Amino acid sequence: MQHKFSNLIFATGNVNKLVEVEAMLADHGMDKVFRMQTLQDIGCHEDIPETADSIVGNALMKAQYVLEHYGRPCFAEDTGLIVNALGGDPGIYSARYAGPQRNADDNMNLLLQNLKAFGDRTAYFETVIALVTPDETHCFTGQAHGTITFEKKGMDGFGYDPIFRPDGYDQTFAELKEEKNSISHRYQAMQAFMAFLKQSHPMIEKENEPK
Ligand code: IMP
Repeated sequence: MQHKFSNLIFATGNVNKLVEVEAMLADHGMDKVFRMQTLQDIGCHEDIPETADSIVGNALMKAQYVLEHYGRPCFAEDTGLIVNALGGDPGIYSARYAGPQRNADDNMNLLLQNLKAFGDRTAYFETVIALVTPDETHCFTGQAHGTITFEKKGMDGFGYDPIFRPDGYDQTFAELKEEKNSISHRYQAMQAFMAFLKQSHPMIEKENEPK
C-alpha cells in the first residue's frame, strides 16, 4: 500500500484550482511525498465531459474518465455555488451560468442581476473531491458558507470570488488571498482528502515528524 499514489494525478485543466491544491499539499508537508501531475502531464488534452446532475456526479465522472481512458488512478474535483434564494442556482451550472463562454464576469453580473429582487443573499460553495482507483472510489466534501455581495470586490482568486463574502469576514474571497486557502470549500474537502491519504500512507506522518 505504501506510496501507492506517490504520483497524484489531479484531473483538472483549471490552473487556479491546481495552484490552490498544490499550496494546500505544501502547507501540510505532503508535497514531499505526493508529486502532482496534471492532465497535460499525462497527455490528456480533451475536454472531459461534466454532464452529471450533481456536483459529486461530475467529480466522479471526471476522475473515472481519466481512469478509463488513461489507465491511471486520479482525483478530480467539482465545485458549485449554491445560492439559497435562487433555489440552489447556479449549482452545477456555475461555470456556464451566463452561457457557454464560461466567463466569470458574465456569470457574476447575471447572478447579481438575478439576486436583485431578493433580501436573502446567503449562499455556499460546495466542493467534492473524487478519488478513483481500479479498486476503490472515495469522495470528500467541503463547504464554505457566506453571502453574495452587492458588487465585485478584490483582485485575487477566481470565478465568483469577488462577490462571495465568507461568514465571519468583512471581505470577499478575492480580497482574502492569504485566508482563502485555509477556510475555503476546497480546503475543507482537501483536509478530508489529505487525512485519508495520511491514514492510507503512514509513511507521510513519519517523514513529517520533527527530526
Ligand atoms: P468547476 O468546478 O470547474 O466546474 O467550476 C464551476 C464554477 O465555479 C466555475 O465558474 C468556477 O470558476 C467557479 N468556481 C470554482 N471554484 C471556485 C472558487 O474557489 N471560488 C470562486 N468560484 C469558483
